[in-house]
Parts: sequence; C-alpha cells; structure tokens
Amino acid sequence: MIEFKDVSLVYPNGFKGLKNINLKIEKGEFVVIVGMSGAGKSTLIRSINRMVQPTSGQLIVNGRDITNLKDRQLRGLRTNVGMIFQSYNIVKRMSVLRNVLAGRLGHTGTLRSILGWFPQSDLQLAMRNLERVGIDSKAYQRASNLSGGQQQRISIARVLTQEPAVILADEPVASLDPPTSHKVMKDLKKVSKEDGLTTIVNLHFIDMAMEYADRIIGLRDGELVFDGPISEVTPET
Ligand code: ADP
Ligand code: ADP
Repeated sequence: MIEFKDVSLVYPNGFKGLKNINLKIEKGEFVVIVGMSGAGKSTLIRSINRMVQPTSGQLIVNGRDITNLKDRQLRGLRTNVGMIFQSYNIVKRMSVLRNVLAGRLGHTGTLRSILGWFPQSDLQLAMRNLERVGIDSKAYQRASNLSGGQQQRISIARVLTQEPAVILADEPVASLDPPTSHKVMKDLKKVSKEDGLTTIVNLHFIDMAMEYADRIIGLRDGELVFDGPISEVTPET
C-alpha cells in the first residue's frame, strides 16, 4: 500500500528532514510513529499526501510513485489519502454535518461543491459516520458548540466520509486531555479496522502508542531507528 524506497527530504534551508527512509506499510495496518519533537514524524506523514515533497528516493502509494505528480494527480492522491490534524481543521461557524460533508469535496464536481450541493447518498454517508463516532445527535449544531474531543470526532467523521484508502493523523490527540485522548484513539482505531483502512498516526507518547498500534515506527533526527510490532517493544525501549 505504502512503500518508502530510500526516501530523503532536504528542506530549502538545507535541513535534512528525512534521511534514507526504507519502509513498507501493508493495507489495513494501524501504524504509530513515535519520536521526540523535531524527529521528523510530521515530515514523514506529510510526504505521504505530498504536503511536502521528498528530494530523493521513491515513495509508492497505491502502486504509484507520488514523488512527482501534476496538480490533477495530487488532487487524486489527496482524495485517496485523508488527513486528521492536531487542531481539527474544521470550520467552527458551520454545522457539524456541513463539516463532515466537506469530506466529499474531492468526489463532487467543482460547480456542485461551489454551490454546496451534495447528493442524498452523501448526506446519508455523513450521518452514518457521525453515528459511528457517537455525535450524530449534534449534526445540526454549530461545530464551535462541541467540546475538543467531539470536534476531533467531527474530523474523523469527515475523513471517513471522504472514503480514503489511507488515513494520516498528525498528533490527533495532542490537544486533548488523557481520558479524552484515549477515547478518540479507540474510536479512530475501531473505524479504521471496520473499513479496512491503512492508518498512520503520529504520537508523542510511547505508552499510548503501545496501547493502539499494530506496529510502531521510531524516528530520531530524520532517521528510522525502530520498526516492529508492539511485542518487540520492551519496557526499556
Ligand atoms: P516532528 O513531527 O517529529 O516534531 P517535524 O517533521 O515537524 O518533526 O520536523 C522535523 C525537523 O524538520 C524539525 O527540526 C523542524 O524544525 C524541521 N522542519 C520542519 N519544517 C521545516 C521547513 N519548512 N524548513 C526547515 N526545517 C523544517
Ligand atoms: P484516473 O485514473 O482516471 O486518472 P483517478 O481518479 O484514479 O483517475 O485518479 C486521479 C488522479 O490521481 C490520477 O491521475 C492518478 O494518477 C492520481 N494519483 C496519483 N497517485 C495516486 C494515488 N496514490 N492514489 C490515487 N490516485 C493517485
């Protein structure tokens, strides 16, 4: 599903964000990337939907090398690779349902999306996904009325409604308190598994990673320094 072949990324100022990454992630895996702040977790995740561009190597997503894509192909990639952010990236003045429907924008024709028109099937899909993350009763409220954990659930429902093959989550629970963080991680894992999605999550804390990951990838100074199932993570690791 995703393969890094000797991928390096040098930022314009000369800083090496990723150094010769080799990595293969299979369909349906729930992978957690851990590492200290500045280790390159965000750079690695953002290279998979090409928010940043590797400077060398090959990065294969869905059988295609994505290191050089035209605009139209980038849109195709980003419809297939959904993203969840630490800060939710929802539009707070809009309703919860509108935010979730935004997940359909890559699928809807340009004129239709400009007009805010969505087919009935999209509405049903959006409502079903709100139900799956337990906030369907809030569908018609303004997003700003919801708590942080609920706002992150809006963004989970939105990415599910996008129907991607891959979900990237960049520190999705870093703004939430520990109990809420666990509930959101549990929901994210549940829906990923139900839909057979390949999910890659950046997390700060190893104990949280241990609880949810099928596999843990460790980064340090832009290098891959650990890759294995949680059974290989000893308490001293
Ligand atoms: P993490 O997500 O693990 O905290 P990042 O991937 O955000 O790490 O950053 C890795 C390193 O790359 C950091 O040292 C950061 O300062 C640097 N970096 C990130 N973006 C840029 C950029 N646009 N230009 C130069 N350096 C950058
Ligand atoms: P088509 O195959 O007719 O070009 P698609 O909807 O399958 O249309 O994809 C839209 C565009 O996105 C295509 O040009 C495709 O090459 C590009 N694309 C590039 N990488 C990917 C990817 N990993 N997953 C999906 N689409 C991708």
